[in-house]
Amino acid sequence: MSEYKEIYAPYIMSTVKAIPNLTYEERADCLKKAGYNIFKVKPKDIAFDLFTDSGNSSVSNMQSSSYLLGDDAPITMGESYERLINTISKIFGYQFISLFTQGRAAEQSFNQFIINKDDHILGNMTFSTSQHHQISSGGIPVSVSSCNNLEDTNIFKGNIDLDKCSHFLKTKKVAYINIEMCSNALGGYPISLDNLKQVYELADVYNIPLILDGTRILENAKFIQMYEKGYEEKLIHEIITEICNYSHGCVMSFKKDFLTKNGGMAGLRDEVLFRKVSDFNLVSGQEITGSDQEVLLQGIKEAIYNENHMTYRFNQTIRLYNILLNKGVPVLKPHSGHGVWINLDNISFEKTNITNIQLSFQNLLYLKKGIRVGAETPKINGSTTKLIRLAIPHRLFVESHIDYIGESVAEVINSEQHWIDYIQSTDAKVEGIIENLLCDYEPKLVNEVTQ
Ligand SMILES: *Cc1c(COP(=O)(O)O)cnc(C)c1O
Repeated sequence: MSEYKEIYAPYIMSTVKAIPNLTYEERADCLKKAGYNIFKVKPKDIAFDLFTDSGNSSVSNMQSSSYLLGDDAPITMGESYERLINTISKIFGYQFISLFTQGRAAEQSFNQFIINKDDHILGNMTFSTSQHHQISSGGIPVSVSSCNNLEDTNIFKGNIDLDKCSHFLKTKKVAYINIEMCSNALGGYPISLDNLKQVYELADVYNIPLILDGTRILENAKFIQMYEKGYEEKLIHEIITEICNYSHGCVMSFKKDFLTKNGGMAGLRDEVLFRKVSDFNLVSGQEITGSDQEVLLQGIKEAIYNENHMTYRFNQTIRLYNILLNKGVPVLKPHSGHGVWINLDNISFEKTNITNIQLSFQNLLYLKKGIRVGAETPKINGSTTKLIRLAIPHRLFVESHIDYIGESVAEVINSEQHWIDYIQSTDAKVEGIIENLLCDYEPKLVNEVTQ
């Protein structure tokens, strides 16, 4: 079970894109124009964007040319559709597949047909948009995760607490069990196949469906191959098939692991449910075009059937993780698969005057180094943790980029005297997701920041 298998990148660069090279003053101006809200800084002004790894992977020459093969016959009649569905059914093993523009659209369609008012949905701290659609369909998401503490160094932090799960199954009305592959709120850690099998058996006893969020199923399969006994010799696609065997369906996005800009699906075994989900898909216009189906099909092949793809991706995240770890940055341990998480609550210096430490760090890192990162605040057992996520897009960076990012992040984390206090500029409580994303902030101590 080796953690690091030295290989070279399984591709060469054929089309490249210049990295913006702004000065400190220009970046300061960009931040000001963005209302000190890192989300509003324009991509053209960012050197390295680690805000997300969704829909921003490099496209291969084969993907670009497959776009032209798109058969846009209406609805589900095209050849592209048939090719894609056959491949997905073969790998994932579901009989019924409905394709959506992205994961959220699939979530919206699926949840409204499976949840009755006040039903519980048990899960491993599932994704924010999944929970949103569960709640808006009348459901109550509940965490039955086995992880009580993000500082726990067990790699399978995505596992379910079987006692907690059976307690809820026994005592509450449960619509379904929802398992996120590589649960993002838990630092992107995987669930083991052993645990998944046991949850599936439990679900069977109570006749409750187990539905995966398979957005990061490829990454979860790679973890199983690396760290679960008995899977070292299995191929990634075989592990994915086995994961899906222990589920009744899968609602997911293709934008993270499958090298595409759009796409999502609901893969199901229940035909009645599938028909409702597909009808909604049709009437709400959430399908993807034949050309996008071809690009996705090619992306699936490149990501799943070339074992070196995920090995190299993991090597990049482990490289960044090791740089930060060696420089004393408080990263979540062990390494993750698609990025590195930093626990800002574990920074040792005095920071009591800082109202919003995540925003402060995001602004500083951009200002000084041109790097954008994301922030997450998961709540586990009633207490929140302030995390920074450095998500690494597929096939975008080379080692010198990873080294620059690692060195830069460590330098800013350790530059304690420069931390800034930011406050939200409006006193009015910001309502709604979009207002939160677009609001402005006001720096209090910005003059203290020096280059
Ligand atoms: C991104 C994501 C989604 C939503 O998918 P979109 O395609 O962006 O709508 C759902 N679940 C997980 C785990 C995700 O990471």
